[in-house]
Amino acid sequence: MIKISKSDYVTGIKCPNALWFKKYRKDIESDKNQAILDAGTAVGELACDRFPGGVRITAKPWEPEAIEQTQKAITQNASYIYEATFCTDTDEYCAVDILQNNNDGTWDIIEVKSNPEPHEYHYLDVSFQRYVLNHCGIKVRNCFVMTLNKEYIRHGDLDLAQLFALHDVAGKMQDMETVQSEINRIRAFLSGPELGIAISKTKCNNKFYKCEYKCHCWKDLPQYSVFDAFKGKLADEIYAKYGADLHNVPVDIYYKQQHSGDIEAFLDNIDVINLNILKQFTNNLQWPLYFLDYETIMSAVPIFDNSHAYQQICFQFSLHVQRTPGGKLEHYEYLHDNPETDPRPGLLKKLCDVIGDTGSVVVYHKTFEKGRNCEMAFDFPEFAKKLSSINERILDLEEPFKNRGLYCPCQNGSVSIKKTLPTFVPELSYETLGIHNGTEASSQFLDFMNRNQTPQETEEMMKNLREYCGQDTLAMVRLLDVIFTYTNK
Ligand code: SF4
Repeated sequence: MIKISKSDYVTGIKCPNALWFKKYRKDIESDKNQAILDAGTAVGELACDRFPGGVRITAKPWEPEAIEQTQKAITQNASYIYEATFCTDTDEYCAVDILQNNNDGTWDIIEVKSNPEPHEYHYLDVSFQRYVLNHCGIKVRNCFVMTLNKEYIRHGDLDLAQLFALHDVAGKMQDMETVQSEINRIRAFLSGPELGIAISKTKCNNKFYKCEYKCHCWKDLPQYSVFDAFKGKLADEIYAKYGADLHNVPVDIYYKQQHSGDIEAFLDNIDVINLNILKQFTNNLQWPLYFLDYETIMSAVPIFDNSHAYQQICFQFSLHVQRTPGGKLEHYEYLHDNPETDPRPGLLKKLCDVIGDTGSVVVYHKTFEKGRNCEMAFDFPEFAKKLSSINERILDLEEPFKNRGLYCPCQNGSVSIKKTLPTFVPELSYETLGIHNGTEASSQFLDFMNRNQTPQETEEMMKNLREYCGQDTLAMVRLLDVIFTYTNK
């Protein structure tokens, strides 16, 4: 029999291709995100501390000793068993994150997830576990998914009872017959040859399960395809009917997407310039201009007081200032350098010292900077007035690009600064920098905060972070210069 684990089960339902690749094509797996794996492990360990005094199964779930250790813990009437492992006679197996003893012959399954809310895939996971335990003679009374609680704000030591939220998922689970028929279906396709790949925007881009095989399945798509031009389900429908190549999509379908001009620009290979949209933006600018950008870290478990699970914590800002049109640029910055302390008070003090009370604050993608300012105003009320003034003066430089004041087909439908900068200011590049994007900045700084770096690595990272964040604000200055070349004509 082909062995089926709980993750095989969920993957097989999500996408048969993905499970087939997982079993037989290790060669095409992309690298796993180590930071996400580490965060999951840390949350799992804290979750066990939430239910202390249990027995931990030390063998891996696929090793026979794991089942022997579990049976011994059950015989000893352990209050909790962490990673309790079971395998049916037909080779379905699972390790239960926390198995809680109700001391009446029944047990509760607690599945720990580092997400802030339970998701459909978690219900499948627990359904499979209940099926396996039932077939192994364990009476399951309740099933819970335990997630992080975003409402809990840390003050001092972690309060584990508050940090975690238990969700009774009884009403959301699959029944035994459904699980059995899914297992049969999964075994049937795993016994056959490689499946025809059925890509889909909604399936492959699902944010809860970043698929590791996208590089393989999406490799033959044109650089700009129906999946770039259309959103979600609509993209899937158009793909099913006309394929991925936009040349085959009838013109009367273009209007179904917000930026139908993108497709025309692509097909005719022409740039889009809309002076009215560009002027709408420049007319609102008030000098001095402050070009502001934050870098943040986000931790599943709150590290600092006055923060919650998954809160974005600002650790760096870059600020370019231009006091008059075409005037000289000044540059200010803050980069936290102490892994023992919260970066926000030092960052806020410096920011409030250097940013004036009048003039526009230019950012790129305002929901990010505005959101961080609102959170910091709540967590540090002594800075609330200044942060509120900054938010009132924010102008989003992404908007003239989003509204297609300027658009080039080589952007492939994206208006991220990583696309607009090389398009309109090719001499400024992120490729030559030591840090290329916000995710890298964040994961390297988290390594520093977790003291996982040598002094040399820290020195190198600090230099790279200064260059990277500084480039983000300089990029805005240069992009605005490009807009002025059109509006000042
Ligand atoms: S990329 Fe899409 S089709 Fe390919 S394995 Fe992943 S989810 Fe399935």
